[in-house]
Amino acid sequence: MPFRHDANLLLNELISLRRAIHAEPEVGIDLPHTQAKILGALQGLPLEITRGTSLSSVTAVLRGGDPEGPLVLIRGDMDALPVTEASGEPFSSGNGAMHACGHDLHVAAVVGAARLLSARREELAGDVQFVFQPGEEIGGGAALMIQDGVLTAAGRVPDAAYGLHVHSGYVPAGTLASRPGTLMASSDKLTVRVLGVGGHGSQPHLAKDPIHVLCEIVIALQGTVTRHFDVFDPVVITVGVIEGGSRGNVIPQHATFEATVRTVSAAARTKFERDTNVLCQHIAEARGLRADVEYLHDLPPTTNDTNEYRFVQETVTEVFGPERWVMMPHPHMGAEDFALFLNAVPGCYVFLGTSVFDDHTQASDLHAATARFDDRWLADGAALLAELAARRLARGHVRV
Ligand SMILES: [Zn+2]
Ligand SMILES: [Zn+2]
Repeated sequence: MPFRHDANLLLNELISLRRAIHAEPEVGIDLPHTQAKILGALQGLPLEITRGTSLSSVTAVLRGGDPEGPLVLIRGDMDALPVTEASGEPFSSGNGAMHACGHDLHVAAVVGAARLLSARREELAGDVQFVFQPGEEIGGGAALMIQDGVLTAAGRVPDAAYGLHVHSGYVPAGTLASRPGTLMASSDKLTVRVLGVGGHGSQPHLAKDPIHVLCEIVIALQGTVTRHFDVFDPVVITVGVIEGGSRGNVIPQHATFEATVRTVSAAARTKFERDTNVLCQHIAEARGLRADVEYLHDLPPTTNDTNEYRFVQETVTEVFGPERWVMMPHPHMGAEDFALFLNAVPGCYVFLGTSVFDDHTQASDLHAATARFDDRWLADGAALLAELAARRLARGHVRV
């Protein structure tokens, strides 16, 4: 019998868990209340449970019927965002943080998969490792867990890794979507400090105005994207912070901006970093100023293994029907630290549509204070993760 049937019986429990986590969100890598709720929900299951030491993660290993069999890793992220919730949900958070990225649903779906697979433990042709990861939003959680040995926590490196991300605005409710190869972008952080000479706002010719130069650089970077990069190998740069000056008639000493840069190919990533350095220095020099450029690689692209992608597509099509599957025509320019798991273990990451609207394009985007998610889809999320684990184990150690 497919896991879908049993997952539907669990739905109310999963919704309660999701809403309890939603009402008490925690940000970053120290999430003691979320960790306690996960441990509570896993209580009584035949799992080998370990807690993180450098972050409040939970790793739970389910030993199946074949000790020689493969190992599948299922990961759910746990952390919230520093957003003041305005969703209007009756279970809204009141503590200044919010599960605006839906990680509360991810926790509940993975708990559901653990419940479903535990009930059929003897039938499993190998082991399953459930990973609950803090710190996705700050980009450091996966790296810390890998550093702490999560990839050998079950005694061996996993054969395959899967995860899902809910999304209300990107795909219609109930749709499962992914693509082979690059699924999501890399994410880099650019900080530029323009160093000038301060002075009186009435006599700019006696000063070296960093704000004017900073504005020229910000505009020029957008020109770099459109004039120097292939439109089919995308680059996105967004300047999210500009800082400088104290009042309108004072030319400050320096001004700074911060940006996020997204690319999907290594070539575009390398070229944009190089071009940015040259452009910032040269524009500043041309005006007699100096620019300090800091370019930090944050996350690599999230890359699905092509064979694992096909396996997921087949599973979704068989379990939920072909009408529920969408192959994304292009990558999503968001970034995701599950990328680090997928760089170490072949696997696939999947989006699950959770819009509360019939027309999903009306839904607020992820991270918005008004973001809402239809948690009735949790049963399908849990069933999918359980099906992927059980079916992948049945295929053995070979690459699928
Ligand atoms: Zn997010
Ligand atoms: Zn997220």
